[in-house]
Amino acid sequence: MKEFDYIILGGGLSGLTLAYELNKQGCLENKTLCILEKRKEYSRDKSWSYWDFENNKFPNCVIGSWDTFSITLNQKTINITCPQSPYRTIDSKKFYDFVTDQLRSNDNIVTVMDCTIQTIEGHAIHTNKGNYVGKVIYDSLIDLSHQTPTMYQHFFGCEVETDNDCFNENIVDLMNFDCSQDGGLHFFYTLPFSKNKALIETTWYSKIIKKKSEYQNEIDHYLREKNIKGKITYTEYGAIPLNLKKTNKKSNSSKDYIKIGSAGRLTRASTGYTFQAIQSFSEQLAGNLKLDRNLTVPNIRHKKYDFLDEIFLSVMEHEYKSMPGIFFNLFKSNDSVATISFLSDRSNWIQDLKVILSMPKLIFIKNLILHIYKKIIK
Ligand SMILES: Cc1cc2nc3c(=O)[nH]c(=O)nc-3n(C[C@H](O)[C@H](O)[C@H](O)COP(=O)(O)OP(=O)(O)OC[C@H]3O[C@@H](n4cnc5c(N)ncnc54)[C@H](O)[C@@H]3O)c2cc1C
Repeated sequence: MKEFDYIILGGGLSGLTLAYELNKQGCLENKTLCILEKRKEYSRDKSWSYWDFENNKFPNCVIGSWDTFSITLNQKTINITCPQSPYRTIDSKKFYDFVTDQLRSNDNIVTVMDCTIQTIEGHAIHTNKGNYVGKVIYDSLIDLSHQTPTMYQHFFGCEVETDNDCFNENIVDLMNFDCSQDGGLHFFYTLPFSKNKALIETTWYSKIIKKKSEYQNEIDHYLREKNIKGKITYTEYGAIPLNLKKTNKKSNSSKDYIKIGSAGRLTRASTGYTFQAIQSFSEQLAGNLKLDRNLTVPNIRHKKYDFLDEIFLSVMEHEYKSMPGIFFNLFKSNDSVATISFLSDRSNWIQDLKVILSMPKLIFIKNLILHIYKKIIK
């Protein structure tokens, strides 16, 4: 058994962010850390977007930054400005390269690539590359064998490079609902990196994940409809479980076995956004460790969001055809600061109230009652 003070299971966004923070905050000066990652090497596989309240933490990894985004429904478009918290996109490959470069300078950090974790027994980790034991384990692996999430945010995106200028590089098309809503909430999402290069995604919220060819057909149809002709330079796919429950032992964090990332339920259930929560969680976790060497797990999201999101997800599941109008109205009738703060876990009670009051009362009360009923009969 190879022994370490800390072991991180999975060197994805949360694993690498935590390692970066532990290193940056000086927690690894006389402690050892091992990261176990199944990929052979890192490549671009995700584009992480978020409203940035943090003053651009990874400037060299940012590939897009916008002060305006739009929402479209029934041919009506509203533009929303957010200069105080711009919408930014990080290229995952740039992030992986930047963080792994930083980690290489510390001899107390070992990263084992091409290493598949096979079984976990307490703090003993068995892999195809030998066995490891850690005093503290940070686990970013999602184990769906004990539960089935009822809702996913699932999407497929293509980066298109065109010969002609096709995109307005100043405005992110955050949600364009003018598309089929059969079987779930559906919208197109466009990140315009320049006038002739954009990442276009078809995004669904539903219980059932589609075949890749179906998403591809949707994108092809959208490109034809918008008369966008060009070459596809990159694709990405995701299916994010939105309501992971605390069911089995390992999905709950214990003092020295801590779930992180999406597996640690850092994904915002109503939106799928996770990036900012992972940053705050990792900064605070490393800060706690540095300050008093204790293993306090930060609680970075107020419980009110979990409660409100459960009702929101219930509406999304049962009344998905109303959702485009609900989202459109949410952005139209609130000031951008309130809405963005709410969606980014940073709203105060006044902003919460504004957001709640802009929701259709009957639908939400009905789903609140349904939610309470389900809790009682459980
Ligand atoms: C395509 C995509 C785009 C996204 N875009 C956004 C966005 O724009 N904004 C946002 O806020 N969130 C976004 N998300 C959600 C979330 O931010 C990401 O999923 C993020 O990567 C979650 O980080 P994580 O560390 O929990 O998981 P991951 O980054 O997936 O890391 C888990 C790691 O564990 C490794 N692993 C898995 N199984 C094993 C095993 N058995 N042995 C060893 N290693 C293993 C994987 O290879 C991976 O590297 C996106 C998700 C996807 C899939």
